[in-house]
Amino acid sequence: MEALGSVTTSFVKSCRKVFRSLPSDEFLSRNREASTTIMLFDELHFLMGATNTLSRRTLAVARPWAAPLTVASPYRQASSSAFPREAKNDSSKERVVVLGSGWAGYAVARSLNKNKTSRVLISPRSHFVFTPLLASTAVGTLEFRAAIESVRRLGLDQFHQAWASDIDFNRKTIRLEANLNPDAGSRTAAPLQKGPEFEVQYDKLVLAVGCYSQTFGIEGVKEHACFLRDVGDARNIRLNILQAFERASLPTTTDEQRRKLLHFAVVGGGPTGIEFAAELHDLVHEDIEKLYPGLGDFVSITIYDIAPKVLPMFDQNLASYATDRFSRQGIKVRTEHHIQRIRREGDILLLNIKEEEQEVGAGIVVWSTGLMQNPLVSHLTEKPIDGIGQLAKDPKTGSLITDGHMRVQVRNSSGTNEVLPDVFAIGDCAKVEGTSLPATAQVASQQATYLAKRMNKGDIEDGPEFNFRNLGSMAYLGSWRAIHQSSADELKGWPAWVLWRTAYLTKSMSIRNKLLIPVYWFVTWVFGRDISRF
Ligand SMILES: Cc1cc2nc3c(=O)[nH]c(=O)nc-3n(C[C@H](O)[C@H](O)[C@H](O)COP(=O)(O)OP(=O)(O)OC[C@H]3O[C@@H](n4cnc5c(N)ncnc54)[C@H](O)[C@@H]3O)c2cc1C
Repeated sequence: MEALGSVTTSFVKSCRKVFRSLPSDEFLSRNREASTTIMLFDELHFLMGATNTLSRRTLAVARPWAAPLTVASPYRQASSSAFPREAKNDSSKERVVVLGSGWAGYAVARSLNKNKTSRVLISPRSHFVFTPLLASTAVGTLEFRAAIESVRRLGLDQFHQAWASDIDFNRKTIRLEANLNPDAGSRTAAPLQKGPEFEVQYDKLVLAVGCYSQTFGIEGVKEHACFLRDVGDARNIRLNILQAFERASLPTTTDEQRRKLLHFAVVGGGPTGIEFAAELHDLVHEDIEKLYPGLGDFVSITIYDIAPKVLPMFDQNLASYATDRFSRQGIKVRTEHHIQRIRREGDILLLNIKEEEQEVGAGIVVWSTGLMQNPLVSHLTEKPIDGIGQLAKDPKTGSLITDGHMRVQVRNSSGTNEVLPDVFAIGDCAKVEGTSLPATAQVASQQATYLAKRMNKGDIEDGPEFNFRNLGSMAYLGSWRAIHQSSADELKGWPAWVLWRTAYLTKSMSIRNKLLIPVYWFVTWVFGRDISRF
């Protein structure tokens, strides 16, 4: 029986290899067919295992996803003697805890040498989002899966789907709150359901918690506007667009209501707002007009911004090219416009705009007006650290101040900045003292690569300081046109669009997505966008 048990175990392992499986529930739910087959092998193995106690051990090896959920918790590990052995903690390795699975956190966790460090990642979402492709997923040009990477695939020593709610820098301990809200990874409002709390310890800590969407406290924004920071947001926008068209096509809807329902308001004229408006324009003109004949005349897209021009990070020449293209495509750009309130009346949202006499109706408002500081960072910078001082913060953005080695700075009692030992900050939540780097994926990922390299080499203090290499900015403008600007050149139109697509394809993280993305682009080109509602 013992021999049979071990043969079965090897068989199960081989089958799992064939199906390229991972030991996670997430995989099983995603790959139904493969998982059903694997589960059959599991059940066979389970029957074998049920007959002898030895099988219990082999079962734990072959079916690690069947182990209790508490396995990965170092908190439970400390207090429980019956701790299952899947825990990968190796006390000889330095325990690096990374907070956040965005551009900065995911990249640093991915690049750390797993032979030297015990890598622990903590994030309320179990995936990384390739944010530049979010607008494409919101309109069905790409599928959501093509823009995300599972953090479980990194082979981390531990991952907790949780928010860090506090940090005790003296005890090197982080308090966590488990995330029980599946879509709340980059929430702008408070979570609906509070999860259990526990603590983890670190040897080195990397703060990469990013920022939240800025709403400026404007009434009705949190409640009625859509944000675009995570796949949940993109899914929500896609559903709302399709819902608006379905409502508008009802015979009971008046033309006046149709005009309001099919008015898409984008607030914020930065690259995110501009790219979303462009993608939406493509969706409407390439797909929806054919599927909802007669509704095309009712559709309008407006971009509102309080600034005198959109795309402020681009040269005037490129920004003007963008606005010219938009006006030819019928996308209205309203600069120096101030949204004062959003309220709902049935299916229609009403925008109170300072410069407009009457409230403006819209089916959807997509809000992309910039960033506000993560509440964890605000909390940490406000509380004193016993015997050390207070975390230094940028007075304008509230970001954590670091030195050129990404080490977090503390303002001591004499008012000077000094290094907080073993704590680093990268990405949108951090600011390197004396620099004004933009809050972009480019900066976040370069900082992550720098920090991981220095940690792997063990020369954080003595190694070179971080040096940002600006690879330029790009924005998609719709109808296969884009703009690109770097210190070396400027491109606009179709060549810039080719560059835009090539850049994002090469920057996508996994080989899986490098294959999936062009396949989806091709499928969309041939068959149109996926606009099914489910
Ligand atoms: C739609 C869109 C398009 C963009 N396009 C571009 C582009 O084309 N080029 C470019 O350079 N930049 C782009 N950006 C900006 C870029 O995405 C950000 O600058 C980048 O994501 C910052 O990385 P980050 O890791 O610092 O933060 P994020 O990527 O925001 O990641 C923060 C992580 O921390 C987690 N987190 C939050 N709070 C906690 C907590 N308390 N505890 C633990 N974890 C926490 C979050 O869930 C998330 O996983 C775009 C952004 C958006 C939204």
